[in-house]
Amino acid sequence: MTVSLIHLKRPLGASTPITIEELKAESCRWPLSDDPPWHFCGLPKAKGAYCAVHASVAYRGPGDKEKPE
Ligand SMILES: [Zn+2]
Repeated sequence: MTVSLIHLKRPLGASTPITIEELKAESCRWPLSDDPPWHFCGLPKAKGAYCAVHASVAYRGPGDKEKPE
């Protein structure tokens, strides 16, 4: 059983990590790593720059109710 660092870094969803070169306009830009080579979620965007899962993470917080978008 082999679990790569990338897998450990993405507890959410079942996306396939993509590199910055593979990142498209419609791809979720959630970073999956802190150091190069950077990888991103890559799922289709659902809200803002992120897929549904990552948007729910990115846009929650204390100011959540101030931005109904
Ligand atoms: Zn995502």
